[in-house]
Amino acid sequence: MRKHLTLLLLCCSFCLAAQIPVKYTLPPCGTAPGISPWLKDYASRPQEFVSARSLDTLYVGIQLHLLARDNGTGRFSPERVLAAFCQLNEDYAATGIRFYFKDDWNLINSTAWYQHANIPQGIDMMLTNNVPDALNAYFASNVAGNCGYNLPYAGVAVAHNCAATGDHTWAHEVGHALSLPHPFIGWEGKTYTTLNPTPDTLTYDYTYFHDTIDTQIPAPLDTALVEYLDGSNCSIAADLFCDTKPDYLSYRWNCDAQSNSTVKQIDPAGGEFYSDGTLFMSYSFDECQTRFSDEEVAAMRANLMTEKASWLTDVPTEGEITGAPDMLLPLDGENAPVSGAELRWASVPNATHYLIQYTRISSFIVKEFELVTTDTSLVLGNLFVDKNYYWRVRAFNHWYACTPFSPQQSFYTVPVTAITSPESDNWRCYPSLISRGQALTLEFGEEWQQQNLQCSVVDVTGRVMWQTPLRSSNARIRLDLPSGNWPAGVYHLILAGEKGVKTRSLMLQGG
Ligand SMILES: [Zn+2]
Repeated sequence: MRKHLTLLLLCCSFCLAAQIPVKYTLPPCGTAPGISPWLKDYASRPQEFVSARSLDTLYVGIQLHLLARDNGTGRFSPERVLAAFCQLNEDYAATGIRFYFKDDWNLINSTAWYQHANIPQGIDMMLTNNVPDALNAYFASNVAGNCGYNLPYAGVAVAHNCAATGDHTWAHEVGHALSLPHPFIGWEGKTYTTLNPTPDTLTYDYTYFHDTIDTQIPAPLDTALVEYLDGSNCSIAADLFCDTKPDYLSYRWNCDAQSNSTVKQIDPAGGEFYSDGTLFMSYSFDECQTRFSDEEVAAMRANLMTEKASWLTDVPTEGEITGAPDMLLPLDGENAPVSGAELRWASVPNATHYLIQYTRISSFIVKEFELVTTDTSLVLGNLFVDKNYYWRVRAFNHWYACTPFSPQQSFYTVPVTAITSPESDNWRCYPSLISRGQALTLEFGEEWQQQNLQCSVVDVTGRVMWQTPLRSSNARIRLDLPSGNWPAGVYHLILAGEKGVKTRSLMLQGG
């Protein structure tokens, strides 16, 4: 019986674990509680921070740092980076704050930082790599065991597992970076319960909030007033905002259909309430979160226009990207050599970067290859032979990254045996082993381009099986041979033009 019970328990905990996303098994945020001197000053006289720019869009430069292991593996994929960046801008759309990539992504290979177990390692990572005059954001596999954290004097860190489309950890940490505390400040590290009377004040430890931790012995402490439901102390209690209602929940919680907590809380005067799960700065599930409050937005904007003014840029310096790249080659159904195949696409106005992906799975659920380049072509390494591959491209720049992929195209890999390299003879033809009905591909080097050519296929006796004039106006031409009735065996392709006559041998398979 006991054995069965153990088995049952194991099974249940396994089932439960399978249903909970990894992100909800992590503490939501490792940011040390604290009200910055700037926020205290702002909260005491917010009307004095209203300026002529109050209605302008504020453009904030982000320097992205993408961590990988020492050997370069594990890095957040470019497609996921772009998705997270689009989610961040979507979360801030109503605030009039817009983020752009200040510079290209900084790729860092360091296993120790990629999965750093504690905040001091994160401090070391940030102070080593930060760039000035930007919001520095770090993406890593493990960020001190949390979904994310913010160091007020350094930058934000976000865990890969908490940065999918629909996740709001990045928005939350940027909120901290722009001066916002949790609505439940003071309750961090404590568990609210109705079993005890709710205190009027809370003492919290803000080690790591200030960059002078070495001199703070014992651990620095501060006091927060507990916020009342009736709003009587809202401007001096908790986060100092009056339009974020009381919230005492410092653990991850799910909400009801109205986005309120299911846990009832009671303020020190006996007022009963439920927490507001719509706030990005709360610890509610991502599915509950939709917004910053008006006062939070005003504080973030004022913080940017004063303390963080060096992060701002006046206007976008790159134009909008309106479409996806046109794919040039290979196009659907074409052959490509199994090694050294070239992908080529048309440049897109205003694009500075292209994200290329290829895979053998047409849904692109699994990507075999993903790369960002500033070029409009890419030569591939070794692929699997006799396989269909699907590829697609997406254009972006530092300001416009929420762009669509091109419609995917496919190609079929053929052996490179006996394909002469275009360097040696300035043209090539493949595959050399073909089936009936299979197309050939001709590729021309510069020397053979823009020429009128005569192309023929002859059998071993010299009999002309097929002939066509063609002009090598493209670097690559597809030849559909009418080989359906040809006997299996050896053939020769003959190319005649101003550069002379060249031949290649072909083997037509039987069956
Ligand atoms: Zn937080």
